[in-house]
Amino acid sequence: MQAVFKGDDPGLAAAAAAITALADQNDFWDGIRAHGPFDFATIDAAEIARRLAAETHPIRVVLWKPRFSRREFYRNTVAVTNPGEPFVLHYHVAFLANSVGQKINTIVHEFIHNVDDHDGQPGEQMGHGDNDWHGKENTAPYWIGEFAQRIYEAAHPAALAQPCPAAPVQADVFADEACDDAYTGSPDPEV
Ligand SMILES: [Zn+2]
Repeated sequence: MQAVFKGDDPGLAAAAAAITALADQNDFWDGIRAHGPFDFATIDAAEIARRLAAETHPIRVVLWKPRFSRREFYRNTVAVTNPGEPFVLHYHVAFLANSVGQKINTIVHEFIHNVDDHDGQPGEQMGHGDNDWHGKENTAPYWIGEFAQRIYEAAHPAALAQPCPAAPVQADVFADEACDDAYTGSPDPEV
């Protein structure tokens, strides 16, 4: 499990570094393995941990600004991945004020979709079904993304104390629901 960000947002750079570091932490993998069955998953938690840990392809984070005609559609969408563009995460510039922990959550969530899409197994093995986030807390992408965020924030309490300028980030943890699986076209990044 590895994440790469080469842009100039310090939060995304810190999040990518933290995710790469997390891959060496036993408490992260042990926590996933100790989880009971994930909703919507057709493989058990130990196998999910194994596939994520074994993935050598880094997820590359790039900044994304939806074109004007699509801004309303994507206004609550933090990140987009496209199965046709493996291991690339388009991060919506409207959410750059999210905390490092929230960014970790988003990237890990999308990383899981990417591994799922490219593990050579047909169909979704560790996803969350449709893109409605309600009641999806116990699926692998949501639970593991949140778990990664909690581990980071426990180790970096100062990061939590910093006010987040983007006050109404409401359910941004879940905000990729609009398109992360359904998206099929080019995100047409403008930045
Ligand atoms: Zn998702």
